[in-house]
Amino acid sequence: MGWEELTDGVLVAGQPNGAPSWFPCNDHPRHKSAFRISITTDDNYRAVSNGRLVARTRKSSRETWTYEQHEPMATYLATVQIGRYTLMPLAAGAAEDTHTAAHAAGDAAGVMAGPTTAPTAVPQRVAVSAELASRAREGLARQNDMMRTFVRCFGPYPFPEYTVVVADDDLEIPLEAQTLSILGRNHLGQEWDSQRLIAHELAHQWFGNSLTLASWQDIWLHEGFACYAEWIWSEESGGPTVEERAYAAWRKLSTGAQDLMIGDPGPELMFDDRVYKRGALALHALRVRCGDVAFFALLHQWTQANAHSSVCTADFILAADHATGLDSEQLLHPWLLEEKLPEFPRA
Ligand SMILES: [Zn+2]
Repeated sequence: MGWEELTDGVLVAGQPNGAPSWFPCNDHPRHKSAFRISITTDDNYRAVSNGRLVARTRKSSRETWTYEQHEPMATYLATVQIGRYTLMPLAAGAAEDTHTAAHAAGDAAGVMAGPTTAPTAVPQRVAVSAELASRAREGLARQNDMMRTFVRCFGPYPFPEYTVVVADDDLEIPLEAQTLSILGRNHLGQEWDSQRLIAHELAHQWFGNSLTLASWQDIWLHEGFACYAEWIWSEESGGPTVEERAYAAWRKLSTGAQDLMIGDPGPELMFDDRVYKRGALALHALRVRCGDVAFFALLHQWTQANAHSSVCTADFILAADHATGLDSEQLLHPWLLEEKLPEFPRA
């Protein structure tokens, strides 16, 4: 479980329970640890894994790649990616400038009125076949802007670097791993459905990888936040606003079955789209009630106080009470632990 054979390579997607199929572990998301992963490949293949490449040694026609992941990592986020990949830096370009038009527009719109954090120059790379290299550059051209937006909204990027692996195959869905995301060749488009996934997987570095749920029923703490990050990027990049995205999601949910508690969806429905959208709406409801300053201060405090550790919904409610002065339990309960969809939150 977890291994996926590609046309010319292989990948591991361990979420939620594929990890024990390739290394011995106590496969519980709360049991995080440092990792050292060593992979031997045939010549002309590159192995990509979590953390930093610390050694690369060649012996006859084989190569051994050793990675070290120092920040604690949940077992399901461990991955191995093997293919005919070359590693390219992603050009930061004008995005390193802190006063680009996009930044100014975002501030004017009050999108990120929380504490400002100086943009961090996080090294970003893409592992991709030579054939797909230029398409990957185009598809990922806005990723550094996404990075800067999320650093401003969520707090410092929690790892030393970030790599996107583009498999030389179509993949059903992209996926997140610690310090990496894996896209299919079909996820490199300029249109919203590709760009939102690139933003979504990046946001998981904060919500899911650094702050990892202590048990799977709290999956909204990963997917609701990553979905909300998509909406933030939509507004920041000149698309529909967070409010518009939220309302569209609410409208769709309001016409579907209301028979799922997203705060405890059960194993069959843990990746149901309602967990994503309604989780993001729960955050939006909180933001509408407390205002942008308190909301983004909360997100910064949340990611920094709990970096590289385990979290649960009760922790988030406590943090929200503290940052906003609201009774967050009363506000979030109908979104998370009742089936009926609450009214759309308006200021
Ligand atoms: Zn996700």
